[in-house]
Amino acid sequence: MDYAVVVAGGGPVGLMLACELRLGGARVAVVERLTEVAPTFLRERNGEDGAGNAINPRSER
Ligand SMILES: Cc1cc2nc3c(=O)[nH]c(=O)nc-3n(C[C@H](O)[C@H](O)[C@H](O)COP(=O)(O)OP(=O)(O)OC[C@H]3O[C@@H](n4cnc5c(N)ncnc54)[C@H](O)[C@@H]3O)c2cc1C
Repeated sequence: MDYAVVVAGGGPVGLMLACELRLGGARVAVVERLTEVAPTFLRERNGEDGAGNAINPRSER
């Protein structure tokens, strides 16, 4: 595997950066330390306080 850029972290900033770099033609890899969706996000989906209150469902995919 040969990448021009490796982005550390698959959060909103890392994913946006990777997409922009890719649109610019760079070969990009994103590495994310979490192996599943963050617990705060899942709590919100279950009706409790947590991250994701304002995230449009389309952006979850
Ligand atoms: C409790 C809580 C609730 C929130 N609720 C909302 C909300 O409802 N609506 C909203 O718009 N915003 C909300 N926010 C804010 C939103 O989560 C942040 O603004 C946004 O996630 C910041 O994006 P980011 O990409 O900078 O960082 P992050 O989302 O933190 O992404 C960084 C990623 O990098 C990964 N990472 C870190 N170090 C490494 C490493 N060494 N190697 C590999 N991966 C690594 C982390 O695991 C993480 O996935 C909330 C924040 C919190 C804490």
